[in-house]
Order: sequence, then structure tokens, then C-alpha cells
Amino acid sequence: MNRKQRRALASEMGKDNAKKITSSIDLMMTLESCCVCKTAFDRKSREHAQTWRVDVYSQEKQVKLYCPECQKKVELVKEIIEKE
Ligand SMILES: [Zn+2]
Repeated sequence: MNRKQRRALASEMGKDNAKKITSSIDLMMTLESCCVCKTAFDRKSREHAQTWRVDVYSQEKQVKLYCPECQKKVELVKEIIEKE
């Protein structure tokens, strides 16, 4: 790979990433509640913004929102799966 190709690839990747970020922000704007317990997500709440977790599954083009309570549950489930 020469320098020109590398530069072309880098700019290409940059564009792609920018697209990905933009589309995940779009997806985030559509999120309204926890995907597990359906508790409403308050976009204006700073506490919610800091404590809720967004998982982006770029392959499935899916974004999942977890409230703090469900994050704990998900972590527990993961631990159990990993132990088995
Ligand atoms: Zn929840």
C-alpha cells in the first residue's frame, strides 16, 4: 500500500465513521424508554444522561437504552453467562 492509497483509505474511513456517528445520534433521538423495563427516559434530565447507558449495535443498526437498574441486571446476566 502506498502513501496515496493510505491517505485515501484514511479519508474514506473518516467519512464512514462520521456517518456512523450521525446515524447513531439519530437513533438515540428516537429512544424514549429503557429497552428492558420501559421506564421513560428523560432527555432533559442530566441525571438520566449520566446514568443511562446506550448500546450501539452497528451491525443490526440497533440502539438499546438501559436504565441504571437494568444495567445492573444485564451485568449480572453477563457474569452468569461468562461463568458457565
Ligand atoms: Zn430498565
